[in-house]
Amino acid sequence: MITLLFGPPGSGKGTQASVVASRFGIPHVSTGEILRSEVAAGTALGKEAAPIMASGHLVPDELMVRIIESRLMQPDAQSGALLDGYPRTRAQAQALDEMLARGGRPVDVVVALDVPEEALRRRILRRAELEGRSDDSADAFTIRMRRYLADTEPVLDHYTGRGVRLAHVDGIGDIDTVTRRIADVLDKVDMGKTP
Ligand code: AMP
Repeated sequence: MITLLFGPPGSGKGTQASVVASRFGIPHVSTGEILRSEVAAGTALGKEAAPIMASGHLVPDELMVRIIESRLMQPDAQSGALLDGYPRTRAQAQALDEMLARGGRPVDVVVALDVPEEALRRRILRRAELEGRSDDSADAFTIRMRRYLADTEPVLDHYTGRGVRLAHVDGIGDIDTVTRRIADVLDKVDMGKTP
């Protein structure tokens, strides 16, 4: 099962993706994590991506398409994956659709985590104190939020337009509560029901 998890910055997307993927026994594919490990390893890709990520902007589509293609070709992703942070633009979605179609695989479900913007800003600034992520500053948050609304939210329409199931999940609540809401959606998809 190919699941796409969407959520604005600070929505808890990464935490939820990791918990839900292990619960369903599928790999958690986070393009943000892949990029952060390239940055940490000091690769050419990491050097190119680091300033873009720190500013809150998006890494160019052609780089991201190459990253996701090589990740989804790995043996562990053949029976499914939970994608966290990809696709973030319509062009990325089209590239993903084409790649999956070549392997005869559809996107099974899109889950969008909903959290109001003020709660997101508070969470991000708290995470900045705890984890020191370079893109958790107030300025970078504003840009990431803008990119999410302008570039990434339209990807939801791309999938509903193609008849893919879209489930909006309330992202407010403790981690377990939100995980349960997402798992309920995936259980229903697994059983062939409409979420
Ligand atoms: P995330 O951990 O998903 O919040 O991603 C952190 C940062 O990595 C983003 O703000 C972007 O700069 C970059 N990034 C991650 N995934 C993508 C993507 N699919 N397209 C473009 N940039 C991305």
